Amino acid sequence: MVLRKPDYFGHFHCLAGACPHSCCEGWEVVVDGPTADYYRSLPGPLGDRLRTALQTGDGEDYFALTDTLRCPFWDTDGLCAIHRLLGPECTSEVCRSHPRFIEDYGSVRETSLCASCPEACRLLLASSTPLTFPLTQTDEEGEPADPWLLPLLAVRAKSLEILEDRSCRLYSRFAELLVFTNAAQSLLDEEAADRLPDLCSTWTTPAVCTPPAGDGLFPHGWEVLSGLEILGSDWRTLLLRGKEAVPGTVPAPLLERIAAYFLFRYELKAINDGDLLGRMQFVLFSALTVERAASLLPLPEALRLYCREIEHDAENLDALLWAFRSDPVLSAFSFFQTLEI
Ligand code: SF4
Repeated sequence: MVLRKPDYFGHFHCLAGACPHSCCEGWEVVVDGPTADYYRSLPGPLGDRLRTALQTGDGEDYFALTDTLRCPFWDTDGLCAIHRLLGPECTSEVCRSHPRFIEDYGSVRETSLCASCPEACRLLLASSTPLTFPLTQTDEEGEPADPWLLPLLAVRAKSLEILEDRSCRLYSRFAELLVFTNAAQSLLDEEAADRLPDLCSTWTTPAVCTPPAGDGLFPHGWEVLSGLEILGSDWRTLLLRGKEAVPGTVPAPLLERIAAYFLFRYELKAINDGDLLGRMQFVLFSALTVERAASLLPLPEALRLYCREIEHDAENLDALLWAFRSDPVLSAFSFFQTLEI
């Protein structure tokens, strides 16, 4: 099996008790089935405490938050009582894996570190060099690959190449990504995925036409985000101030890395539904939103909040993909207007 991770992955270490925004705060902790069964079978006072904390709803077991919005097993020293008393292997799967997002594509496994975690966010923003995603090979057997996997891997590699071509202005690269992805989407729609590698190898930067006049993605984009599920009051406050936000405050190399972070995680997901263009719109919308939010908050905080609110909520992700298909103010034209092509 081939493993692919961002180049800073190996430097990640959980800050544990020193974390300023612990993942044990603000989220209900979902407890996977085998771990919940183990907790229910555990004798003694700790077993009683686990059973009391364990709730079930919508077919899931979870720990409800305390009145102070903390996991009930998050102790005042910032450490996890289950981790300390039973060992890390006895914490729920979501606790063991956070902030890693793991995607299996048959013979390829990709792992990223969600920038909702302050340490993962710090590592992403700690360098100005183009973000890379090295490969390693293991002896593990993967599942048979989807026929779209290799063509879409070629599309993503070309997308990263366009994004990281620093001989062009970053917004011009964003616009080219939209044009390139639109061409790739047409081939997918024609059921000609086998022609995608050719598209990638013969692609040349096109002349981009000037779009009709319009406001672009913002401020409407803030209203779209305000209509999604909101987890924290800090995000709600930011959304209310969205109209004050302006672009241009983030150094281009960092905004490029942020776009590469989203591109790595999301573009290949088109393998599931064929919506390549919607994924690219999501990637660019995310980078452009974070860029504007960074005029109101420090960049790491703007990125962390966006990722916490959007990337951990499947309903929010689906709602945004739907909005790119259905809302004319989030159309490709609006992107071009925002990018001032
Ligand atoms: S948010 Fe990140 S650094 Fe903080 S406790 Fe969770 S995994 Fe560790």
